[in-house]
Amino acid sequence: MQNIRIMRSECFFAAAFAAALAVAQIPAQVQPALDHISANGLKGNVSFLASDLLQGRATPSPGLDIAAEFVAARFRAAGLEPAGDDGYFQTAHMQQVQADTTGFKLQISDGKDTVDIGPDAAAIQTFTALDLNHVAAVKNRAADRKGKVVFVPAGDLRSATAMRDLRASGAALAVITGSRPRAAPRLASPEDRAESVPIVFVASGAVATMVKNAQSLTVTAHIAAPKEKPVTLRNVAAVLRGSDPILKDTYILVTAHYDHLGVKAEGQGDRIYNGANDDASGTASMIEVAGALSVLEKKPRRSVVFVAFFGEELGLIGSKWYGRHPVVPLAKTVADINLEHMGRTDDPTGPKLNDATITGFDFSSMPQVFVKAGKLAGIRVYKDEKRSDPYFARSDNQALADSGIPAHTMCVAFEFPDYHGVGDEWPKIDYENMAKVDRMVTLGLWMLAESDKPPAWNASNPQTKEYIAAAAKLHHATDSAGAK
Ligand SMILES: [Zn+2]
Repeated sequence: MQNIRIMRSECFFAAAFAAALAVAQIPAQVQPALDHISANGLKGNVSFLASDLLQGRATPSPGLDIAAEFVAARFRAAGLEPAGDDGYFQTAHMQQVQADTTGFKLQISDGKDTVDIGPDAAAIQTFTALDLNHVAAVKNRAADRKGKVVFVPAGDLRSATAMRDLRASGAALAVITGSRPRAAPRLASPEDRAESVPIVFVASGAVATMVKNAQSLTVTAHIAAPKEKPVTLRNVAAVLRGSDPILKDTYILVTAHYDHLGVKAEGQGDRIYNGANDDASGTASMIEVAGALSVLEKKPRRSVVFVAFFGEELGLIGSKWYGRHPVVPLAKTVADINLEHMGRTDDPTGPKLNDATITGFDFSSMPQVFVKAGKLAGIRVYKDEKRSDPYFARSDNQALADSGIPAHTMCVAFEFPDYHGVGDEWPKIDYENMAKVDRMVTLGLWMLAESDKPPAWNASNPQTKEYIAAAAKLHHATDSAGAK
């Protein structure tokens, strides 16, 4: 009896162990996709996108256009459906707006003294000419700002809501104190124009002091209309159609920005910002993942949309454009995973081999799917305690999160020695490691696309409040439209 009992329990443990092993295995049906990912494939694509020929892929530039054409060609090679308005291209008609300082005048008076700001001490952002004579000025917190000049300390404008609040105030002019950005031309969409409030940035300490101490202020300002030039920019978008009759009308986004910083204006030697890791590595990873999933005989149940964005380096411009002009319904888009810095492992905080991290790690349930995928694929997907949350707003996932879609950026190294430098070149990338990480990404995406349950924002995290509100609005708007 005793012996038999022992044998039975051994059998039980053996069976349980086998079951545990079976769970901890990559499902056979997705294996061909993972096998399709190759380090040399990644190296080939990164080396082209980051080559000197493309001159740093500035937005806009001929190098950027070549990169867009290349991404489209790779989507075509993978047999993906075009998702743009012009084949794979989503056309964005924008204006390049350059401030005109001719006749510029900005005088701030407290009734006793007047501070005069010259054109060299100001940075102007306006779409229209402005003519204000002794207009009352208030501080940013004032209840009634309509038609007035508003003084805003630069530090008050850090969040997207603060900027939205300022735009909604109806102020005649905002004078931002304590910061003066470089007077570079800006790219603007028709929506940007409709929402804009004229802004002058002033770094002068005299102005800050006067604003702080004065009881009442008036402002006189003369600003010329800016010079404008139309420009055409392109996101590149493709769909891998899902296999489930119902879930195929829901979408998972995989995104990366294909632009970078262009060419340094002056200096000796190499002046090209090649942007190999930032973000040719993300773009090449997206291409590789797209190619991998498209070899599967049975496609994932949900549809997967791949989008390469322009203009990230100028302030998430391509992804904001996408948020306003989605190629598939936002209300049917269940997730965005944005890929950045996928190749370099030499993070200053220590080497990042077989590791990947996700921004806003506790903002939604999505990162946990990649943690699971990582366990199967041999990649540790972890939360970087210090950088996870602050980096959430620093890439294209933000524009999708603002629309309510659970959206995160995946990266291997947040920072690396050549970050935004001319030394960000393709030979410095670890392509074997990058291929392993991309296999994990592919597996995680497949799991997301197979699952009945879409990712959800984490309501217990206060940082998700705005995104949850946006999600409610997005789904409510669709429900009422559907009811009509
Ligand atoms: Zn980037």
